[in-house]
Parts: sequence; C-alpha cells; structure tokens
Amino acid sequence: MSIDDSMSTRVAQLRARIDAACVRVGRPAGSVALLPVSKTFGPDAVREAAALGFTRFGENKTQEIRQKINALADLPVQWVMIGHLQTNKAKDAARDASEVQSLDRLELAHALQRRLQTEGRDIDVLVQIKTSTEPSKHGLPPEEAADFLRTVVRECPALHVKGLMTLAVQSDDTQAVRSCFRALRELRDRLKDASIEGVELDRLSMGMSGDFEIAIEEGATEVRIGSAIFGARHYP
Ligand SMILES: *Cc1c(COP(=O)(O)O)cnc(C)c1O
Repeated sequence: MSIDDSMSTRVAQLRARIDAACVRVGRPAGSVALLPVSKTFGPDAVREAAALGFTRFGENKTQEIRQKINALADLPVQWVMIGHLQTNKAKDAARDASEVQSLDRLELAHALQRRLQTEGRDIDVLVQIKTSTEPSKHGLPPEEAADFLRTVVRECPALHVKGLMTLAVQSDDTQAVRSCFRALRELRDRLKDASIEGVELDRLSMGMSGDFEIAIEEGATEVRIGSAIFGARHYP
C-alpha cells in the first residue's frame, strides 16, 4: 500500500503502467485512452476525477447516468454506456449518453436509432463482441459482426460505428485472457479487410483494472478502468 493513496496518485500510477505496457510492445507512450468507470461511485467521486481532467465517464446503468447528470449539471462531462443495455432503456441512453460501447444486437440498434431520430441526435457506438465462452457475457458472436455492421450502416444512420469492445474471460489464466483480446483485434483486422463502407474500426475498447496491461499488449486503444481509480466497489 502506498503512503499517498489519493486519486491523483492512483491515476498517475495507472498512467505509468499504461505507458510501460505500450512501450513493451513498441507502441508510443500516451497512445492509449483511459476511460474512468464511475459506476457505483457517487457524484463526488466523479467531481474529483473531473478535477484531474477527465471529461468522459463509463457507466453501466441508465438510471445512474441520469442521477449523476442531475447532481453534476455544472460539470461539462459526457457519459459512456458500457454495460448491458435493455431495449426498453434505449430511450434513456439516446437522451443521456454520448456514446454506447455495448451495442450487441440489432433490436437495440433499431431502438436507439428510433429514439435518436426523435431526439435529433447522433451518437458514436462500439460493437460489443463476445470473445469468451462464458455464458454470462453479453456480446455479438464474432461470426455475425460483418453482417451486423452492414445492416447498422444501412438502417441506423444516427449510429456512427467507431470500433469494437469486449470483456475478456474472468480468469487467472492470463493466456485465456490474452486470447480474448487477441480475438477482438484479429476480428477487427478481418473486418477492415472487408472494407465495409460507412464504418470506422480504429477503436478497440478492451481491458479493465485487472487485465488492462494484457489488453494494451494486444492492441487496445482505450481501457475502461474503475477500481484502480476509484477504489473497491461495494455493491448493496
Ligand atoms: C465495471 C466495468 C469496467 C471496469 O471494471 P474495473 O475492474 O473496476 O476496472 C470495465 N468495463 C465494463 C464493461 C464494466 O462493467
């Protein structure tokens, strides 16, 4: 345990580890974005992180985004939906989120499209891919990704596809974790070769507090970090 465990120290230590992982695989330091994940932490924690310069925050529940928007109306922050999004919550996400990283099915894409059209907004999306065989993980099967992207481009003009997202298997077996991240990058490379017009695939959102270094070694362009910034989460 360090003597100074303030948030700014934790973030500085985290950035040092992110940069070290980049350098290990010949990527430039500073080339990986850090998305703080504030789910379960209150508005004060977001305020503290915003004071360190963060302007985007990952959340997994639309109700919690709404509460924080109300509590933090004076802060210029944006909300990124990273958790499973029920179709009946598409309305809330279309109103409150600047980006959805958990787009994993056409029913949701269509629901977001309808609601965004009503709101007169566009949003960036990442397509969440299932790269592990764990039954609990959401995500589109990799083999369906190409057709999915073509349909989203055709039918959902308010959604701008910017890349892919995944969660690795939860395991102490680092090779198993690594193979999830590698699978996402390889899928992205194949999709790029397929030259699907109207989608960008430059972003790979993968890696959390426990596995971000492996994700960076495998090509993550952004990592989603909760507990390593905000501390341990306590679920009610
Ligand atoms: C909670 C969460 C994270 C961050 O998890 P930590 O282990 O706290 O870093 C990242 N991605 C998703 C999808 C999450 O739900």
